[in-house]
Amino acid sequence: MDQFTDISLKVFLEHAHIGVVIHRWDGTIVYANPASLQLLRMSYGQLIGHDDRDPQWNFIDENNRRLQPDEYPVNKVKRFRSPLRNEVVGVVDSSRPEVTWFSVNAYPEGHTGDDWSGEGFIVVLFSEVTSDRQNFSFRDIVEHAADVVIVTEADDIDGPTGPRIVYVNRAFEELTGYSPEEVLGETPRLLQGKLTSAEACARIREALGRKEAVRETLLNYGKTGRPYWLDMNIVPLSNRLGQVTHFAAIERNVSDSVFHADQLEQRNRDLRELKQNLQALVDRRTTELREANHRLEKLAFYDELTGIPNRRSFLDQSAQQFSRARRRGERLAFGMLDLDHFKTINDEHGHEAGDRALIAVAGCLERFFRQEDCFGRIGGEEFAFTMLLGRRGEADASAIASRLRQAIATTRVVPQGAGPLKLKASIGLCVFDPAEHDLEDAMRRADEAMYRAKQAGRDRLEVIVLGPDPD
Ligand code: GH3
Ligand code: MG
Ligand code: MG
Repeated sequence: MDQFTDISLKVFLEHAHIGVVIHRWDGTIVYANPASLQLLRMSYGQLIGHDDRDPQWNFIDENNRRLQPDEYPVNKVKRFRSPLRNEVVGVVDSSRPEVTWFSVNAYPEGHTGDDWSGEGFIVVLFSEVTSDRQNFSFRDIVEHAADVVIVTEADDIDGPTGPRIVYVNRAFEELTGYSPEEVLGETPRLLQGKLTSAEACARIREALGRKEAVRETLLNYGKTGRPYWLDMNIVPLSNRLGQVTHFAAIERNVSDSVFHADQLEQRNRDLRELKQNLQALVDRRTTELREANHRLEKLAFYDELTGIPNRRSFLDQSAQQFSRARRRGERLAFGMLDLDHFKTINDEHGHEAGDRALIAVAGCLERFFRQEDCFGRIGGEEFAFTMLLGRRGEADASAIASRLRQAIATTRVVPQGAGPLKLKASIGLCVFDPAEHDLEDAMRRADEAMYRAKQAGRDRLEVIVLGPDPD
């Protein structure tokens, strides 16, 4: 093949992807290449010999208006005697609901000079452009979407200026304040700022590097520096060869929900704090209540002034001790103690000095008695005690009571501006066998003994023994 003219035109047309149909000047079709049959979904027999006025043709224009035969490309060439360039024509046939769109070129052929006498041909060339034409424009939809759409090129992901922005929609302009001119050719990093999560950006870059879709919630900044949260869905866009050429980021402004989530978190924190505070308050109140109960308990069982068991508590403990002694077959000693001339102490040194004296005497009893003994303040300046005698006899009990009397006598209380008080006590002691006598009996007898001690001049001990002394 030395010369270009050696190329067989027929063979070329048979292999071309473009549809070629040749009409005679009167309109009849004399040639249709295989591509044209395929594009028009017709057989050779259906085309050859027919003319353009055949009712099988249904042509429409770009506005979906049906073309009159005069407006068919071939007839336009005939009428205007000039070529037709890139005219878009839709073909409607019964085999499919959609319109097939063609870009049509046509020209007259085989005329010499101005001779349009009827000889010659009209060549019509057409290729399908259906995929380029839609009844509606996706671009319009994207342009008017409420979500922000940004398209970037897919290369140069890690480059200093890449990936370059090639498209932004109106929602982008409205949200960021940037015009398309200001951002086209720039990198989306322009929209990121100090508080944008570096980790999230790294995750995005990594996914884009792998040409994969990625979704992140990211903080971006508008032209005035106003920050906003975007839930961004980034998807790779491929060309017809399946190569990823672009990324489309579809982004929703979720600042409100992030803000609300923040507020919710703050509220939860407040509630948690409140709960903790309440818990602390409840704990404090519980402690206070426990202390108050403890104080009440003390009030109920202990004498308020001296802190030793009160009458009720003393009698209660004595009753228990009485039962225990009776079970064990042990003897008991019950003592009544009344301070001598106490009224005089009050009269001479004041009530407060009297109180201090009572406290001192109570302290004396506390130190004096053992764990298993009972004692208490049963009246104004009256005290009582019970002792388990065990192996001890009446003499031991008397000795103990005498020592107590001496201990009180040596208790030192010094009122303001006076010498030490002379504290004296009269004690009545009843030694008895719990198996033989009850507690009330013993108390009464101890009281009588104490009265006798008073009668006998005070500052002394009177002992009464009920029943036989085992010693
Ligand atoms: P006696 O030797 O006969 O027992 O004489 P007394 O003065 O001790 O007896 P009396 O029963 O006449 O007086 C008891 C006094 O004890 C009267 C009261 O003022 C005083 N008294 C009672 N309870 C308290 C108290 O809690 N504090 C003070 N300061 N005095 C009290
Ligand atoms: Mg008294
Ligand atoms: Mg007295």
